[in-house]
Amino acid sequence: MVNLRSSSRDVWRAALGELELQLPRPAFETWLKKTEGVSHDEHHFVVGVPTAFAVAWLERRMYQAIHKAVEKVAQRSLDVQFQVAGEYSIGAGADLQEGYDPEPRTSDTPEQTSRFGLTRQAFNSKYTFNSFVVGACNQLAYSAAQAVADSPGGAYNPLFLYSGVGLGKTHLLHAIGHICASRGQSALYVTSEQFTNHFVSAIKNRTTEDFRNHYRNVQVLLMDDVQFLSGKEQTHEGFFHTFNDLHTSGRQVVITSDRPPSALALLQDRMRSRFEWGLIADIEPPSLETRMAILESKAEQLNIAMDDGIIELIAKRVQKNVRELEGSLNRIVAYMQLMNVDITYESTMRILDAVVSESARTEVNPDCIIERVASHYEFNVATLEGRRRTKKIAQARQVAMYLLIYELEMSPTQVGRLLGGRDHATVIHGAGKINGEINEDRQLRQDVLAIKEAIFS
Ligand code: ADP
Ligand code: MG
Repeated sequence: MVNLRSSSRDVWRAALGELELQLPRPAFETWLKKTEGVSHDEHHFVVGVPTAFAVAWLERRMYQAIHKAVEKVAQRSLDVQFQVAGEYSIGAGADLQEGYDPEPRTSDTPEQTSRFGLTRQAFNSKYTFNSFVVGACNQLAYSAAQAVADSPGGAYNPLFLYSGVGLGKTHLLHAIGHICASRGQSALYVTSEQFTNHFVSAIKNRTTEDFRNHYRNVQVLLMDDVQFLSGKEQTHEGFFHTFNDLHTSGRQVVITSDRPPSALALLQDRMRSRFEWGLIADIEPPSLETRMAILESKAEQLNIAMDDGIIELIAKRVQKNVRELEGSLNRIVAYMQLMNVDITYESTMRILDAVVSESARTEVNPDCIIERVASHYEFNVATLEGRRRTKKIAQARQVAMYLLIYELEMSPTQVGRLLGGRDHATVIHGAGKINGEINEDRQLRQDVLAIKEAIFS
């Protein structure tokens, strides 16, 4: 169980798990999603909140629920305080402060600051080749990254990696950086935004020569998210020269982007063709098997024995993005450990509901839900909207009510209108009945899960 030595972040995560089950989803998403456990001492627990407005709102409207959840998790009476992020102040001891870690730690190699203020970033110790799970979706990118790490400036120069978000590009850049740094080669990881800022300030301070020298001395340049350079012409020029300097002297350049060079609309042609000199590799979203392998590997890293069925459930529900996959697992594990409970299908489902990206939700419309429910129960839509009331039809109808209310947050009146003109009391009763029975009725739970999977995938 949780004690005061647990990090504030873990305590807060578990409290969020509790709150997620209690609060309406919109309220949870709006006010609690971007919060962090910051610190605690014997009597206080401090929560970091993005804005002063959110602090006021949480204090006024949600204090009771939050207070209760924190005390339940911490198993002691605590006064909860909210603070705007960036103004954290309670220094209740190093152990407690450790809890706040908004960014992955990058502490493997000491930070070096060059004389004109560029920070040479260290590499994240979590992002190594060993911890990268390989599947068909990322095989080429992985092998190319390894080849580059083994012999920088060799066959694949530049290496250009592209994929959607959260699929491992940054991870691979850091993995290359680790290997090079361990050989004593200077590898520099820089986001294109950082590069832009450095460049702009070099121009402003008339230190462009220093700027060039700084980059010219690098053996491996790891440039992340190059799409953000688009449109900044002067910065392009800076990058073009930097790139040429490095490339012509046989240094390695690795570039990532959210799209292939051909689709970087604002990129100058000469730059685009330079990128195409080397190897271009994309990373696809992982297949179900790879998602399961990733979850197993992450669970192992966390030292958690997790049921195969739960792993499969998460992998099926969270589909497109490894970052979301990892986030879901972390939420579930934190909940499980801190509440000292076994994780069940229901709690997994509920936690996942809150995590699955909003973008997936917004594409779902009421008709799509009604059609899915009808086809799952093998009725047509007219039957669902009609008056017949066999037990099976009535249940299917109530499942539709439940999903429309809980997933789309429609009002009971709207739902009633959609489902053949039923009044709102009938809808509230129907949705409530499913909400109550879903915990006990295994078949019902499987039905609802299958429908949700079909809707949200
Ligand atoms: P991107 O830069 O493409 O947006 P990241 O490299 O930041 O994605 O990856 C997001 C998260 O997913 C990171 O925590 C990373 O470690 C993890 N991740 C991505 N792909 C894999 C993989 N194949 N194996 C293990 N972890 C992965
Ligand atoms: Mg990235």
